[in-house]
Amino acid sequence: METSSLFEFPVSLIKHYLFCPRIPYFILFLGAQERVTENMREGKEEHEKFFKREKRRGRLVNVFLRSEKYGIYGFVDEILKEDSGYCVVELKNTEFRKENLKIHLYQAVAYALLVEENFGRVVKIVLKYKDKNVKMPLTMGMKKYVVSIINKITKMQEEGLAPSVRNKRRCQNCGFSRICMEYSD
Ligand code: SF4
Repeated sequence: METSSLFEFPVSLIKHYLFCPRIPYFILFLGAQERVTENMREGKEEHEKFFKREKRRGRLVNVFLRSEKYGIYGFVDEILKEDSGYCVVELKNTEFRKENLKIHLYQAVAYALLVEENFGRVVKIVLKYKDKNVKMPLTMGMKKYVVSIINKITKMQEEGLAPSVRNKRRCQNCGFSRICMEYSD
């Protein structure tokens, strides 16, 4: 797995990249910001409640971490210590939908890279949806995939080239559609 340059970026760019590779370009080069939806506001409130509840139980929540190795940073929702290693918990303010699993999973894997660099070995990822928890062991393959995305975003930042549209089905639910329509390369 490659290491990064001095350029660093938030883990949220990995989530955006997985939704559509054009989005990190708009954020990095055009200063675009995601439209804040009612659902996002509700999600923030739910996160606050979750953090308070878990803090009372002595849990480590909302932890800001930075990876020098990979050049990424972000807030990890919850870090649990288990006998065999750490568990990274990512809270989702939505019900489980299979089509979003990949994005959510690899966002959490990026957080796992942060935890591994700052705490130690991560053995498990837990995605907490409103209706169910999805638990997965962290594998080398998952980590390599996330590092490949980090490298692609880094390359995009170096080259300054906007990726082309790959999956038009996503456009109707995209918070960056206005800037995307205005922007022509
Ligand atoms: S509108 Fe479509 S192509 Fe443009 S950023 Fe959003 S998902 Fe990507």
